[in-house]
Amino acid sequence: MHRVALTVAVGVVLGCSTPEAASVPALRPSTTAAITAAPAASVTGAIRSSTSASAAPPSTATVLAAPTDRLAASAAEEVLFVGAAAKDPAVVACRNEREDEARIRCLIAARYAGDAAASRDALALYARVGSVAGVLPEEEMDGGFRGRIHLVPEAPMGAERRHLAWITAANDDFDAFFTELARVAKAPLRYRFRDLTYRFFRSVKRTTPSAYAVGWSVAYNVAGSLNTSAEAVRETLFHEIFHLDDAAHDDWSARALRPTFDAIVLRCGTRVACLSPYAPSDTMVRGGTYYAFQPNNGDAVHEYAAELGLRYYRDNRAAIRGEAFKKPGFKCGPPENQRAWEAIAGEFFGGVDRTPICAR
Ligand SMILES: [Zn+2]
Repeated sequence: MHRVALTVAVGVVLGCSTPEAASVPALRPSTTAAITAAPAASVTGAIRSSTSASAAPPSTATVLAAPTDRLAASAAEEVLFVGAAAKDPAVVACRNEREDEARIRCLIAARYAGDAAASRDALALYARVGSVAGVLPEEEMDGGFRGRIHLVPEAPMGAERRHLAWITAANDDFDAFFTELARVAKAPLRYRFRDLTYRFFRSVKRTTPSAYAVGWSVAYNVAGSLNTSAEAVRETLFHEIFHLDDAAHDDWSARALRPTFDAIVLRCGTRVACLSPYAPSDTMVRGGTYYAFQPNNGDAVHEYAAELGLRYYRDNRAAIRGEAFKKPGFKCGPPENQRAWEAIAGEFFGGVDRTPICAR
């Protein structure tokens, strides 16, 4: 099953977009906080829970440097309550909190009241990485040749709360991963995965798109065909978040990877056997080719880059965790892979590469 190939998008969507949605929107300039070397503290994965609505954060916050992109309480109101934000009594009551963080905790607790487990996860997500899980406003998505898709807001509660648990667990993993990268990096990491909004929805009578990313926000489908396990969701999230960072770095992939990408496509076209050594992941489009090289999928270099970002995360995560590689690392393939690997590591990840040296 491919990860994102059936993902459709409206015109403002960055990643995984349809051919008619190929343009990359002008986002605000990058305000990504440079992640500097963290103090010597162990990364804690344990999330302690709290049942108190506006009590102290229920989990240990990240050991990474304090971010500069914290969400404003007004933004949290909108993502949590959308159209009802202005007059919902719970929202109004939370405005008594003077500090934004306390007010946002109050808002999260109010939104998830009635589902203690979901509330704990949402509060833990915010405490750990500053991200707020809310809902997507109702919309009609233009799915191009797939037709129109009706998206309705649906909070990840009750029968759907597992999706929020997966998102929170994924962010714990990212936090541990980037903390370790920052610990060994000689240059600042320039990759924002914190302080995002997650907007949950359900696609009516459809199972696509599974997710899409735009403007420091990830929209997530509780009915998404690919959102079936913690691991699948973690990897889909990394891919989507990469699109956000790629755009925020002035469309980095279009500048830095285009020559490499074009040369590969010129050589191979869509032939699977030829592309195989260059594909950052095994993700395939049904009836097509590797997702990273699938034509008519927006500006395909964006997808090559997002899959490359995912592979960087996968291989380095495995190396950090001491896991055995099932096959040689991506960088150990053709010279094009090595160049792309070094480029992405340098641009986003402080030049760190923890993967094993290639046996040449
Ligand atoms: Zn994508």
